[in-house]
Amino acid sequence: MSDKMSDKVTDCCNVNKNFSAKEIEKSAQLKRFSEWMQADVELRTRLSKGEGLTSEQEEWLKKIGVSLDMDEISFLWKHPVEVNAYIMFAIRGRKDELNDEINEIVKKYPLLELWGKYSESRCAFTQILEQWANVQSVHEKFNAWRKRRIASAKSELGYFGMRLGHPSFSFELNSGCSVGCWFCSFATDKLSGTLDYPERRGEVLSIVRQCSEIFGKEVASMALPYYRTEPHDNPHYIDFLKDFENEMGEVLCTSTAAGHDIEWVQKLLDYYQNDRSDQIYYWPRLSILTLDMLKKVHTAFTPMQTKDIELLIQVKDAARPKITGGRILKEQAGLREVEDFSSDDRITLAASVPQGTIACVSGFNINLVTRRIMIFGPCYTSNRWPHGFRVYGEASYNDENDFPEVIRDLAERTMFLSPPKDSVLKFRDDIVFRATQDGFDLATAHQLHHFKGRNRCGPLGQLIAEGVHTYAEISEILHKEHKVNPIILRAAVQQLFDDGLIDEIYM
Ligand code: SF4
Repeated sequence: MSDKMSDKVTDCCNVNKNFSAKEIEKSAQLKRFSEWMQADVELRTRLSKGEGLTSEQEEWLKKIGVSLDMDEISFLWKHPVEVNAYIMFAIRGRKDELNDEINEIVKKYPLLELWGKYSESRCAFTQILEQWANVQSVHEKFNAWRKRRIASAKSELGYFGMRLGHPSFSFELNSGCSVGCWFCSFATDKLSGTLDYPERRGEVLSIVRQCSEIFGKEVASMALPYYRTEPHDNPHYIDFLKDFENEMGEVLCTSTAAGHDIEWVQKLLDYYQNDRSDQIYYWPRLSILTLDMLKKVHTAFTPMQTKDIELLIQVKDAARPKITGGRILKEQAGLREVEDFSSDDRITLAASVPQGTIACVSGFNINLVTRRIMIFGPCYTSNRWPHGFRVYGEASYNDENDFPEVIRDLAERTMFLSPPKDSVLKFRDDIVFRATQDGFDLATAHQLHHFKGRNRCGPLGQLIAEGVHTYAEISEILHKEHKVNPIILRAAVQQLFDDGLIDEIYM
């Protein structure tokens, strides 16, 4: 990360300076209450029916450090829709656009305003992550390829795609995962091996260094230390975090579903919180799988101890929707099934189109146990790509000695600066093509792209949509039968390619 970006991250990580001690304490309690409310269906139901808390529930909340006056936070269940809208506008910095009804509610509940300020401050870090998308690689082909993946994610994932940081690497320290979540979007296999870190530490660090040399340190440090794996499965996971930080100067994130192991969570908190002066890291993020796990975490740590880390409530009855991929795959059409795009209904529909994927890496997945490399990027979950990412190429290496050659060769045969002339030229597989009078439209689950210029490019869109002609064949047909100028055609195809609209699965 450049110095300039590091400064911004540091600034962002100092968000607590904008809060008084009392406000921090109240925000921490509000966060805890909202976690409990998301997870506990019984509590949620009682409150939404206006039945108030039972004496046991009151006792429990006190025990886990929530002493807020329920009337002061009743906006959470009395006005959930308006509160949601308020928070969304707050985190996007658009509070001044809110309507009178919502402004009246905010006036009535000072803690709602605090909740908005808290949510906004936590989101500032996400905005910095978005800047990762602008980081350049010294590897020309990877750089161009990654830019196309970023454009593609915006096209097919809409708002969610615009908020991705697009890390370039994910290093997996295990093969498979021991947890087996019922909703696992990656449908990860059972745990079959863990990296013997003490034994292979030299090899791993050499691989990290080589990624930095080939692709640039800034890009190589944008990494995840897990992907389709659970960090907790490797007993030396935190050693890897420390080594990576020493080598690359970057603190990597952690998302874990092992909240039941309080000792391990404490070790992670120590790593992210101790000796870091006034910087705040929002890690580890804990995926809470059951009410019991939440009880354990809430009992072991005070609201102040977990105020900066996210508890992602994944219990079965939680209010938060799951991504319908992997083990719970369900293909959803979104805007692609809308015929009449002039209708106002599309706005409501657009807001209801699901997130589409939890994948975020646009680059390399390196499994350090199986020594497999995969080039992949996020996409809208489908039957063809049930895990929410497309695989562009794969390879195996033997050790750190052949690793650089293998990864260079994989990038060379997967990543192009222009569409290959002898490959079939077709649109991305999530796209629905519609011819129009003066050109064509391309519909994705989240977006509609319009193209004019039939008079200059002839039936270019139609030929690409047929999905059977190579780029060379299309050029010949358009030149010979439709008198299309080859320079104009090349520019039009290059634009479609650079915008990430062309299929790049050449395997
Ligand atoms: S969601 Fe994560 S922890 Fe759960 S099974 Fe999948 S990889 Fe493992």
